[in-house]
Amino acid sequence: MSTKANQAAHRVLDMLHGRARKVAKGDPLAPPIINAAKYALPGAPDHPFPYGRFDNPGWQAIEDAIGALENAPTICFPSGMAAVTAALMALAGPGARVLLPSDGYYTVRVLIDDFLRQHGIEPVLVPTRQMDGYDLSGFDLVWLETPSNPGLDVCDIKAICERAHAAGAKVCVDNTTATPLLQDPLALGADMVVASDTKALAGHSDVLFGHVASKDEALIERVRQWRKLSGATPGPAEAYLAYRGLMTLELRLERMCTNADALARLLQGHAAVSAVRFPGLETDPSHAIAAKQMVRPGFVLGATFRSEEAAERFIDDCPAIFHATSFGGIQTSGERRARWGDDVAPGYVRLSAGCEPTDALLAAVSQTLDTL
Ligand SMILES: *Cc1c(COP(=O)(O)O)cnc(C)c1O
Repeated sequence: MSTKANQAAHRVLDMLHGRARKVAKGDPLAPPIINAAKYALPGAPDHPFPYGRFDNPGWQAIEDAIGALENAPTICFPSGMAAVTAALMALAGPGARVLLPSDGYYTVRVLIDDFLRQHGIEPVLVPTRQMDGYDLSGFDLVWLETPSNPGLDVCDIKAICERAHAAGAKVCVDNTTATPLLQDPLALGADMVVASDTKALAGHSDVLFGHVASKDEALIERVRQWRKLSGATPGPAEAYLAYRGLMTLELRLERMCTNADALARLLQGHAAVSAVRFPGLETDPSHAIAAKQMVRPGFVLGATFRSEEAAERFIDDCPAIFHATSFGGIQTSGERRARWGDDVAPGYVRLSAGCEPTDALLAAVSQTLDTL
């Protein structure tokens, strides 16, 4: 096992047993869902639970668990975008110049254009595959998303962090597609990590969730303060669902990564597919850096079909692919990203490998490919 994989495995153990090590006799192992707007608060208002918007025991349970994987203090949010907003509020003051991936999650760019630009925040867009050589002088914040979504390009987090810090910029990595088990941006030098835990971390397609993690105490306090003041607070039931999903993250990822690799090789060898993007393929432009900085190359892949029509038929006809946006669930899912206006070929399908038995999944996909 590589050092990275070994470290990740130890963190999973700590994550799984973290709560068990703290409970008293008679306490439930599963964190209770505590519905609380008010807490008893006689005397000085100095208790950790003064009011529902400040904290909740269920937030602490999932923050401890994700924090064990991130190896860093963690603040949870009701969605990935709530976490992204908190990170931007903590890292980008008025007038900040922010370098952003032009091929990253679209909504982040819209958020900056529609709301943050009016506070003087200036975004500069660069494709992920050009981040490695890009001049970082004059930037206050470098935002990375690697592997990028949906194009699956990868950039070198460690090298960019070194250059960004030398230029006086902070680095925040959106680690949604990798999760803390496949990639550890904070260990590679990033100042902050954000993720949409709606995807693989919670993993069951039934809850929106997100988190921010940082080893910088001042930054994490800013993020906590933002949640308290803005009211971007997760519901206790949602925190529980995310916690419950997280407990099986390592097991699910194991199958998802295996299925992604098998699907990439099947698709690459089929005449109906003209190109495959998957950092795990030795021929992929992302392979070398992914192999260096990731534990495994992930569970998201891209396949280009000859036309929009062939791509749509593949997704709709295959009984093992759920036609939907988003990724990271139990069921393999897919969609044509050009339908959202992403800068990809009309026949480009982003696939998220699920937890199906590998042979059955490959058989279903293979049969559908043969009909195209
Ligand atoms: C989905 C996603 C988000 C937003 O997360 P929500 O939970 O939908 O708010 C942010 N970044 C990336 C990379 C995503 O895939």
